[in-house]
Amino acid sequence: MVSGFAKKNVCKVKEVILINPIYDSFRWLACGNSPQPLSNRELSFTLADDVYIRYLSICDQKEFQNLLQKKCPHKLDIGAVYNNKPSISRHDAVVLARELVFDIDLTDYDEVRTCCQEAKVCDKCWKFMVVACEIIHKSLKDDFGFQNILWVFSGRRGIHCWVSDYEARTLDSPGRAAVADYLCLIIGGDNQNKKVHLGSDNLHSSIRRAVSIIDKYFDDIIQDQEFLGTSSRLQKFLKMIPEDALREQVEKSLEKMSESSLERWKTFISIYDSYLRENGNAIRKIKYLVEEIKIQFCYPRLDVNVTKGFNHLLKSPFSIHPKTGKVSIVFKPNNARNMKLDEIPTIHTLLDDSSPDNVQHQNNMRNAVKNFQEVVFSLEKAEAIRKRNYANTTLDF
Ligand SMILES: [Zn+2]
Repeated sequence: MVSGFAKKNVCKVKEVILINPIYDSFRWLACGNSPQPLSNRELSFTLADDVYIRYLSICDQKEFQNLLQKKCPHKLDIGAVYNNKPSISRHDAVVLARELVFDIDLTDYDEVRTCCQEAKVCDKCWKFMVVACEIIHKSLKDDFGFQNILWVFSGRRGIHCWVSDYEARTLDSPGRAAVADYLCLIIGGDNQNKKVHLGSDNLHSSIRRAVSIIDKYFDDIIQDQEFLGTSSRLQKFLKMIPEDALREQVEKSLEKMSESSLERWKTFISIYDSYLRENGNAIRKIKYLVEEIKIQFCYPRLDVNVTKGFNHLLKSPFSIHPKTGKVSIVFKPNNARNMKLDEIPTIHTLLDDSSPDNVQHQNNMRNAVKNFQEVVFSLEKAEAIRKRNYANTTLDF
């Protein structure tokens, strides 16, 4: 929350604390804890020089604020809610609740993105995050009925999603694994060329919906990434075609034409369509080949272990990334496509009045706080309704 930059400029950092939503963070944590006491939630701090402290907990907002100001953590992680106050010595501690979380990191896209690799990101590869956010958000709302969903920029090269509905928080491990598996369509390691297999039955509505979301961005992404733009990328693409005769036709045509990936893709589609018309018996094998390839290029690549793990600690919203200085801002999923990486506030620009980005970053910070507050209000409302319904049910008996 408050970075180690604090030591350099205490007064300025106090200003940043004021625009940091400590009160809203506290309310969000408190709601996410209910019905357990807040003191049963594990927090962890990473201090200067990578000193890592686990099993922290707080009882109230004052204590939260004091702890942040006293320790000046570089990073605050939020863990699970236990049956007791978290402590290193309690081996009998049982996890009772935890938001359902998703972690999507652009490094997991290194096999498809061509603009950047590893820790590097740019606005071109950010589009993968836009697609991931839209697909997962829609699925969480429409397929699972979740309402209280928070989206956070992870600080460098990815996004986090926190689902705080009571049903999500109290989901057991097999339930979490089932949600993660439901959202996982890309399967296989580095040696597997084709990682998506949709069969030949009618497509599940969630897959059709995901493909229609990908379609909105696909032409843009294929031009940015040039998936088919070099001979080695083309060879990789051809290996995704399981039908030998079709693959040979596609290879012959694509090798002869311009290197524009979009043009090559359009040619592939027309060859595929006419091949299917002429070879009805191939339909079982390649009925959804186009969808499978689009999914392999653009569908969300989740770190499923984060979702499945019941007690995984995840970086708090509004943390500051130690390397980039960027704030883990909260964003609205329908606005992800308008986010520019340069416009994400950093601790440096927020503290430096003379920075040319200061005014814009202050504004973006305020918007991020507003987005956070909207989610907190909606969660508090849902919690109040849940508690009232629970009280009424108890009275009925
Ligand atoms: Zn990039």
